[in-house]
Amino acid sequence: MKTAVFSARRYDRTMLARANERAGHELRFFDDRLTTASAVLAEGCEAVCVFVNDSVDAEVLDILAKQGTRMVATRSTGYNQIDIAAAARHGIAVVRVTDYSPYSVAEFAVGLLLAVNRKIARASARTRDGNFDLDGLMGVDLHGRTVGVIGTGKIGSIFARIMTGFGCTVLGHDPHPNSTFEAAGARYVPVDELLSSSDVVSLHCPLTDATKYIVNANSLARAKRGCILINTSRGGLVDTEAAIAALKSGQLGGLAIDVYEQEASLFFQDLSSKIICDDVIQRLVSFPNVIVTGHQAFFTVEAIGQIMQTTIDSISAFERGEKLVNEVSIE
Ligand code: NAD
Repeated sequence: MKTAVFSARRYDRTMLARANERAGHELRFFDDRLTTASAVLAEGCEAVCVFVNDSVDAEVLDILAKQGTRMVATRSTGYNQIDIAAAARHGIAVVRVTDYSPYSVAEFAVGLLLAVNRKIARASARTRDGNFDLDGLMGVDLHGRTVGVIGTGKIGSIFARIMTGFGCTVLGHDPHPNSTFEAAGARYVPVDELLSSSDVVSLHCPLTDATKYIVNANSLARAKRGCILINTSRGGLVDTEAAIAALKSGQLGGLAIDVYEQEASLFFQDLSSKIICDDVIQRLVSFPNVIVTGHQAFFTVEAIGQIMQTTIDSISAFERGEKLVNEVSIE
């Protein structure tokens, strides 16, 4: 099937082409993000393949529908960048990748926690500069600390299991509790108790209307003083200005984020020789106790292979008129 692939980086091209070897879909790769301006590139493509920072809003879907698109496949689990109701109105099917290595993200979240707590990135930068001083690099033992997990699905439950392995007490909050989380040695508590008891809070819930700014000035004020916040889920879960204020006051003891609300104009590109006009991210990276990575938690050989294979399989199933196992429907 003729498929327009947006936000296609070198690894997308290589890995998607490899997954497509047997299926033989006609893949047209574009570096561009999908927007109202670039949607014209998908003219005549029945399928459009997107990523997290493509904009698949009602206006874009309107253009795509007029150009003959009948399916949108996102190479991600989250689908908050897609207006599902608008797609349904146009009869455009939307598929995502429900299952790919959740270990990739959970392990990365642990990596961020270790890095921010033990100042690993700062230490590495120092030694490269011939500075072997330890001043300012002291962290705390994670053993015996309390870790709060907001969103205890696939990734949150694995993160919980790893943290119980560290000897942490793990608390969770989720409107849909599950036994896997509890089997990891963790327990559910009300969100207020989670916030006030946790030395570390890690976000693993999707971005929805209900979870937008789930971390805000109010929730930060209720958190344990000096708590470390980890966000590998979606930038919109955190009110970044409130997080900056909490970092300045010491209410937040550390912050590690792989996602950022305004990431669409920054992430997945090399801006090292450009002037970055986003003062919020510039302020964030200036803190010694903040780590920012560019949405790479999913970026392992295993996860990318599974993402690309599932995407190709969904396009093939759609072409054959089969039931779409990874279809997103209106909740
Ligand atoms: P999942 O669907 O298995 O789990 C999500 C959990 O969040 C569910 O148990 C759900 O009940 C819970 N939840 C929903 N609303 C909530 C709320 N208001 N409060 C607390 N919990 C709530 O999803 P997953 O595979 O574990 O992925 C979690 C998120 O991780 C995704 O939505 C995505 O945003 C993010 N993600 C990030 C990357 C990355 O590279 N940084 C990669 C994959 C996924």
